[in-house]
Amino acid sequence: MRFSTAFIPTLKEVPADAQVASHVFMVRGGYIRKVAAGIYNFMPLGMRVISRIEAIVREELNRANAQEVLMPASIPAELWQETGRWQKYGPELLRFKDRKGSDFCFGPTHEEVVVDMVRRETKSYRELPLNLYQIQTKFRDEMRPRAGLMRGREFIMKDAYSFDVDTDAAEVSYKAMYEAYKRIFARCGLDFRPVEADTGAIGGSMSHEFQVLADTGEDKLVACDTCDYAANVEEAAVRASGVPAITGGGELTKVPTPGAKTIAQVCEALKVDAMQTIKSLVYTADGEPLLVLLRGDRSLNEIALKKLTGATELFLARDGQAKKATGAPVGSIGPVGLDLPIYADLELEGATGAVAGAGEEGMHYTGLDLARDCKVTKYVQLRIAEEGEGCARCDGHYKAYLGIEVGHVFSLGTVYSEPMGCTYLDEEGKSKPMVMGCYGIGITRIAASAIEQNHDKGGIIWPMSIAPYQVTVLPLQMNDDDVIAAANTLYDELKALGVDVLLDDRQERPGAKFKDADLIGIPLRIAIGKRSLGEGNLELKWRRDEDASALPVAGAAEAIAKLVADENATIAAS
Ligand code: ATP
Ligand code: MG
Repeated sequence: MRFSTAFIPTLKEVPADAQVASHVFMVRGGYIRKVAAGIYNFMPLGMRVISRIEAIVREELNRANAQEVLMPASIPAELWQETGRWQKYGPELLRFKDRKGSDFCFGPTHEEVVVDMVRRETKSYRELPLNLYQIQTKFRDEMRPRAGLMRGREFIMKDAYSFDVDTDAAEVSYKAMYEAYKRIFARCGLDFRPVEADTGAIGGSMSHEFQVLADTGEDKLVACDTCDYAANVEEAAVRASGVPAITGGGELTKVPTPGAKTIAQVCEALKVDAMQTIKSLVYTADGEPLLVLLRGDRSLNEIALKKLTGATELFLARDGQAKKATGAPVGSIGPVGLDLPIYADLELEGATGAVAGAGEEGMHYTGLDLARDCKVTKYVQLRIAEEGEGCARCDGHYKAYLGIEVGHVFSLGTVYSEPMGCTYLDEEGKSKPMVMGCYGIGITRIAASAIEQNHDKGGIIWPMSIAPYQVTVLPLQMNDDDVIAAANTLYDELKALGVDVLLDDRQERPGAKFKDADLIGIPLRIAIGKRSLGEGNLELKWRRDEDASALPVAGAAEAIAKLVADENATIAAS
């Protein structure tokens, strides 16, 4: 491609709404433009990156015997009503009506549609296993679309669904996808980690997320420093220490703490450490209030609470609601004498000598003994695992990371096949529900994650495998016939060798070309300058390196093609 005729509108200014590198550089580099919140145009460079990622995904899924299909984005409500998700899914689901008034949704995920397709056509154990995938635009009306492609409302996903005769066979399918995912993310040049994960709204039993490690990640992860256990903190169990996390004994004593509402203020007022306090949180689970107790320095794992209560709608109570449920203002709520279900974090079992709210304005208790002074309904792990805590699987300890979830594999069991009657006849002619798995990859999110991991202050540093072009050629003096001739020759030769090359033939100064090349991030840059050309050389520079090196003009195209191939091979092998 010649830059002079290409649609690559680069920008000097940082877009006002962009904070993270991937968002900034994709907009500035002319890859994407915002159409509405969380909704983007992919311009030619963006489209090329997406196509490369899709090609890798297709190759690896086809290799794993998955078959590509394409399902509709508009889904009739009836299918979602069969599984109950039409009611359950909430405001992320974009619902609309057709001209006849029939309800539809824009698919955020496609379990219902694929199950409907398979139940109509597949009848016998002989036709299983089956794994169907598609690459398609999804819509989720995210509450907070953010960071460009990272969390869009409309985005491209690869979703796959496996159908098996029983759980053993389903596990084989799951493992095959797990392995395919490892290859896909490695080939995309990502530094990633598979972690154990919560099964979320989709439901099911086993689940792993593929997390790209990045400081701008939204997901909190812990990984053991000794064994290979790694998990999303929403899922991570911690080793029970067997001893109460708060000790000290003493009498239950009411003490004034005027104006102290937060744990920090209470600690200040009573001269105690947060590790000596218990915080009381009022939640409503499907409208019913309950109290959660955690040590003052811990954070609640809402997912664990949701699992424990089985509630579909779980919210932290608003101040008014909390006061109505407990009789106390927020900041002084405590467990003593409360007639609500009380769920306490496991480490609080046996706690004595603790500080907690006394249930009246400006008062706290000291010397609280949970077993003696209140009625705890259940002790269960409700806190988020933190750096330094004991690993649940071995004697090691956790390290904390931030990650971006680029892929997710779930084993679904029969949660969709059973309600939707997706059955087959086994060898004895008995009807059984198919056992399913589902597997998602955020195609557009991969592009953003790759940039989060590979950039500098000048712009993107694409991994060769997903770069929009593999090589960029920069003739530096556009008024010099020799320079232009050399650039055109190299461009033609590289194309003939199958290398994707962008020739920057714009009438621009070298500085502007270098700046745009850095911004766009093509991995290999060949600059052609009058002086070095006179010495028979071109200047070769990897985008990731500081320094350029001389490349003899003779045989340059072949040498460059070999560098590209070698680089791709290195990425694939890693
Ligand atoms: P998240 O926790 O980030 O919302 P999810 O659990 O809702 O993700 P899945 O339903 O498992 O995501 O979707 C499969 C994949 O689609 C995810 O692993 C992610 O890479 C991608 N994805 C999900 N939501 C978005 C989004 N709003 N924008 C871009 N990619 C997304
Ligand atoms: Mg989501």
